[in-house]
Amino acid sequence: MTDAVDSVDQPTPRRKPKPEKTTIGGRELKPATLMMGLGYDPALSEGSLKPPIFLTSTFAFESAAAGKRHFEGITGKREGGAEGLVYSRFNGPNQEILEDRLGIWDGAEDALTFSSGMTAICILMMAYVSQGDVIVHSGPLYAASEGFVAKVLSKFGVTYVDFPAGATREELDAVLEKARDMAAKQGGKVAMIYLESPANPTNALVDIEAVKAARDSVLGGAQIAEGSGTENVCPIAIDNTFLGPLWQRPLKHGADIVVYSLTKYVGGHSDLVAGGISGAKKWMDPVRALRNTMGGIVDPNTAWMLLRSLETVELRMQRAGENAAKVCAFLRDHPKVDGLGYLGMINDPRQQDIYDRHCTGAGSTFSVFIKGGEAESFRFLDNLTIAKLAVSLGGTETLASHPAAMTHLSVPDERKAALGITDNLVRISIGIEDPDDLIADFDQALAKV
Ligand code: PLP
Repeated sequence: MTDAVDSVDQPTPRRKPKPEKTTIGGRELKPATLMMGLGYDPALSEGSLKPPIFLTSTFAFESAAAGKRHFEGITGKREGGAEGLVYSRFNGPNQEILEDRLGIWDGAEDALTFSSGMTAICILMMAYVSQGDVIVHSGPLYAASEGFVAKVLSKFGVTYVDFPAGATREELDAVLEKARDMAAKQGGKVAMIYLESPANPTNALVDIEAVKAARDSVLGGAQIAEGSGTENVCPIAIDNTFLGPLWQRPLKHGADIVVYSLTKYVGGHSDLVAGGISGAKKWMDPVRALRNTMGGIVDPNTAWMLLRSLETVELRMQRAGENAAKVCAFLRDHPKVDGLGYLGMINDPRQQDIYDRHCTGAGSTFSVFIKGGEAESFRFLDNLTIAKLAVSLGGTETLASHPAAMTHLSVPDERKAALGITDNLVRISIGIEDPDDLIADFDQALAKV
């Protein structure tokens, strides 16, 4: 018999061999500053100021023992994950820099990036649920997220309970008690509380603090019993696409995992599709392991584009937010407008209270209710000239769409009615154009209704 060779103790030199400097004289550097350089050392890439795009499917090991060490990290045999670059389904320099920078915004220990927001959401859920489990989710969710729970996970014996976004602590306790009883009957557990706040397309907010308090009281915390792996845990995950990363930091309010369609504000130019999640390493590890198996990591070119986008995300979001406030001030008093679903003009005291505790800005995506129904809404949409008629949001340009007939078409009519996704709801995502030009465009399109 021959002896096994120990893996090497010294990890392969990486793009960032030294600890990152994130403070100066005790001052914590702000995300806007860290977006320019965190996670990248030009000296390791011929002095290139910006990271090159690493188009490679695999990475050469410096020795067989080093390769063994890296696989120990990838497969979980060694604590702490991969310490070296191995194979582009697992990791890559562009993706790792992006993940370091994305995590900064949410004050998260770790982050993972994916080929789309939906890839992130599907892999996240699959990493945590098993047969017999129950997912508790807020409503509405983005239609594909809701469909994945109701139509795909149900094929594997996973059930769900949903609650309206604005639910109170008492209502949340009741929903979780129901879910706990369902799980007990099915031989499973409540595996995840999945929130979307603000919700697409209504902008309804979920009280994250109340959800955490209810989870801790009814289920006994995030680790719902002794155990390791994902068998006995119930994280709170939240899709923060509409306000993140700037205006809502859900980890501060009790969420465990933050989810993004990076296609939206983070990408910000309507020229890429990607997704991300961030949170404590212990919550990321099971998801990383499944991503390693399935693939779905963002590609290097898209990761590089997202690095460029992150440098301006604060500027873009600030400008879009200011524009939206001006446009909504105009729309609010317009005779052809029946109301607005804009977080800067909330009418409901419960929603206002959640906003005041959780959000630092109203965002630039909102719904406008046109007087009339589908015909009047379509006439408005068809007459816009600056604003483009397209789904998606968070780009530099203004977009308008009709959720009931487009993104949420697959949602059954009764559910649409219950969630307030009406035929006269037009969703607008305001960009960074001149605000008075946008107002002129909305004015002339409304005149044709
Ligand atoms: N979450 C929200 C709130 C969304 O609006 C979307 C897409 O519109 C997604 C998730 C899915 O993201 P992606 O299109 O990047 O897969």
